[in-house]
Amino acid sequence: MAFSSRHRVIVMSSDYSLTNEQNMVRDTVRRMAQEKIAPLAAEVDDTGVFPTAITDQFKELGLFGLAFPESYGGSDMGILSSALVLEEIGRVCSSSAIVCAAPIITGRLILEYGGDDQKNSFLPRIVSGDLTATIALFETDAGSDPEKISAYAEKTGKQYIINGRKGLVDLADKAGLIIVFARAKNSGVNKGISAFLIEKDTASWAIERTVEKMGATAVHACDLAFEDCPVPEKGRLGEEGSGREIAVRASGLNCILTAARGLGIAQAALDYSLNYTQERVQFGRPISSFQGIQFMLADMATLVETGRCLVYKACAEVDRGQAEGYYLGAMAKCFVSDVAMKVSTDAIQLLGGYGYMKDHPVERMMRDAKLTQLAEGTNYTQHVLLAEGLFDL
Ligand SMILES: Cc1cc2nc3c(=O)[nH]c(=O)nc-3n(C[C@H](O)[C@H](O)[C@H](O)COP(=O)(O)OP(=O)(O)OC[C@H]3O[C@@H](n4cnc5c(N)ncnc54)[C@H](O)[C@@H]3O)c2cc1C
Repeated sequence: MAFSSRHRVIVMSSDYSLTNEQNMVRDTVRRMAQEKIAPLAAEVDDTGVFPTAITDQFKELGLFGLAFPESYGGSDMGILSSALVLEEIGRVCSSSAIVCAAPIITGRLILEYGGDDQKNSFLPRIVSGDLTATIALFETDAGSDPEKISAYAEKTGKQYIINGRKGLVDLADKAGLIIVFARAKNSGVNKGISAFLIEKDTASWAIERTVEKMGATAVHACDLAFEDCPVPEKGRLGEEGSGREIAVRASGLNCILTAARGLGIAQAALDYSLNYTQERVQFGRPISSFQGIQFMLADMATLVETGRCLVYKACAEVDRGQAEGYYLGAMAKCFVSDVAMKVSTDAIQLLGGYGYMKDHPVERMMRDAKLTQLAEGTNYTQHVLLAEGLFDL
């Protein structure tokens, strides 16, 4: 069987070791997450309220800017550094990880597709954490198949007028900037999708509904309505009609950072299980002394470490400017989200009846793990892309 050229490149580049700086970032964020976020995580999940104190920690440590050039106030340390951060934050609180990730993804799209004015206007504020940003692609009838989106942009003179609805937009209630995908009015399916940078204070759009979720509850998923929402021509991101390409890149970035979050969830579930099984005594000895339990933990650890290799390698390729990094990122998202789901479910099993109770964080980890399989393009739809890559379709 002949591998495609894309596959060969992925196999050849294999260095994804961390620099001293990246190790330092990971250790600093691990300390901060354990000290400042972990004690709040259960309450954040219960109340669905996100404390600004956590965002302040992100700002203070410069976490929004790690993957951005110094010219915009960032520290130019690549997407791998952001993934390390999200892994550490994901270990303690999924809502916090999403709050940190969304502006990074949006900012990276502006960095890649934006004009100088757009970069100068938005990136310093995203990097500093003063501007929260998110992406609105999904619509009720356009989920896994975004080419069916019906929100439309009509060009009149030097502006576009946007009409339509978007669904499940993370953080729309907090965001000062949303990248909205809409198609040119009257263009056919697969045609004319563009991305628009819409600022909250200048736009005629409204939150129609905040949808209740089973996990990551402090990140509110909002349904939005755009009615004759004016966007100046200079608010279009990238070329007219380049929305599909930008949406694919958004999904690629999302996959990588979702995988990092999932990795954190899986690691946390493993850590908790290791501790619990050594403390819990049944039949006169710690349950960790039973070989059945040991083997289960060994499998969990193997899955977590394998996932870590995939996530770091994907990031390293992206940081080296290799498009294949995004392909690996889709693999990482599928693999690690399944690992997070399995390891957190196994953790509940290892805690027995107590695992099902809210006294322990593993049931929250399982609810949060499920989201990593669903959002950012479900794992099945990522498999479609992976298969296309394998066969050079
Ligand atoms: C909590 C949450 C937050 C979100 N935040 C955002 C956001 O901020 N911005 C945004 O734009 N969107 C957001 N989304 C939307 C998300 O991207 C979509 O839910 C996702 O793309 C799946 O679309 P869908 O829910 O319509 O599922 P559907 O497309 O209806 O899929 C249903 C099932 O069919 C499967 N399926 C579909 N097509 C295929 C195929 N070709 N082959 C095999 N199986 C297939 C899917 O895998 C899934 O299991 C969010 C979703 C959630 C749950």
